[in-house]
Amino acid sequence: MDSEKLVFCSHCNKEVAKANYDLHEPHCMRFLCKCPECDDTVPRDQLEEHKTEQHAEVQCKMCHKKMEKRDLLDHERDECPKRPQICEFCQLELPMGALTEHRVSCGSRTELCTDCGRYVQLKDQLDHPQNCSPHSQTAKDEDTTSSDSDG
Ligand SMILES: [Zn+2]
Ligand SMILES: [Zn+2]
Ligand SMILES: [Zn+2]
Ligand SMILES: [Zn+2]
Ligand SMILES: [Zn+2]
Repeated sequence: MDSEKLVFCSHCNKEVAKANYDLHEPHCMRFLCKCPECDDTVPRDQLEEHKTEQHAEVQCKMCHKKMEKRDLLDHERDECPKRPQICEFCQLELPMGALTEHRVSCGSRTELCTDCGRYVQLKDQLDHPQNCSPHSQTAKDEDTTSSDSDG
């Protein structure tokens, strides 16, 4: 029974082989330390660098909100109220706030459907194939001709 046991090193938040832990711990404490700001384990000599890299205060270029540098990417991608979004109708990139309004006008533009010869609003084009009826261009007439007759 000589299975290698793992112990959790609280300095670096890693699991270490128990056999190595006696060596690991002093090494870990000597070279690594926890960033007081985020609890991440950082090489001691890089702590200052880490702090300026991750925790420096930066400003979002789009909405000018101030935050830590490490939050900026997430903010720009998911949170920023002014982050650019793509209009699905014209593929134009617009700030989040302006997109809602733009989509209303952009989606109500019409384009000629070459199959049925009708003008279809862009926002209806996804559903249009179901409504597209190239052969019956006449108005909706519900005349069902039953070819079923009793013999
Ligand atoms: Zn460790
Ligand atoms: Zn940190
Ligand atoms: Zn922002
Ligand atoms: Zn558009
Ligand atoms: Zn059509």
